[in-house]
Amino acid sequence: MKAGASELIRTFDEIMETKPQHEDEPTGVLTLTFLGTRGEIEVRSRQHRRHSALLVEYKKARIMIDCGVDWLRQLQTVEPTAIVLTHAHPDHAGGLARGAPCPVYGTPETHALLARFPISDRRVISPEKPFAIGGVRFRACRVEHSIRAPAVGYRVSVTSSSFFYLPDVARLPDPSKALRGIGLYIGDGATLRRSMLRSRGRALIGHATITAQLAWCAKAHVRRAIFTHCGSPIVRGDVRLVSATIQKLGCENELDAHLACDGDRLHLIANVTRKRV
Ligand SMILES: [Zn+2]
Ligand SMILES: [Zn+2]
Repeated sequence: MKAGASELIRTFDEIMETKPQHEDEPTGVLTLTFLGTRGEIEVRSRQHRRHSALLVEYKKARIMIDCGVDWLRQLQTVEPTAIVLTHAHPDHAGGLARGAPCPVYGTPETHALLARFPISDRRVISPEKPFAIGGVRFRACRVEHSIRAPAVGYRVSVTSSSFFYLPDVARLPDPSKALRGIGLYIGDGATLRRSMLRSRGRALIGHATITAQLAWCAKAHVRRAIFTHCGSPIVRGDVRLVSATIQKLGCENELDAHLACDGDRLHLIANVTRKRV
């Protein structure tokens, strides 16, 4: 296993070490696997080979969040029981061009943009209206990123454990409210410090910097962050140097921050009191 992956597993096993809230409550383990961590860019590397997608495993559920072009003809290796989409850009939904072996969840705008895809089981979700898949609760939160392909992030929870998945974001409205009570933020790694934002009237499009997202987390008292959907400078860079830079930027915001690489896996223990760090 590559250094990046084992390091992430070790780190999160340590910090996620927790105690059950009540002795009689069963402890469930939510396993997150970073299937892919590459953004919509030309380059790829061993650590960032495929478009960003996260597999959420809980009991019998295997929920894949996003399914970009790199996942076309690869879904049989993932065997998802559900696919949840953040938006309709090709690096998030292009892998569904030949349909899906399971229900596909997305907003009305996302499904409309994918109308030409032969998806047989479409589930339309509404932002801010919670829904559940196999015991895992989701709530979509609208974010600014694209006018043509409106995007959402997801608050994902099992009992008292929760994380927020937001691979593409220009601006998160009211971060303190959106991220309240979140144990882990998984964010947009398109750019470390260089702005990739553009204005369209009053709207912002593009990608917020990792630095800006860490500031949102700090404001919302989120203490852990991982960045996926990596941009060209990160994918081309030395993985150890980039990891160290993200950790340093995290420290400046009193956050435990990491770079995600393809194959990285971490376990969140449900029904637990979060350990203070
Ligand atoms: Zn993207
Ligand atoms: Zn996008």
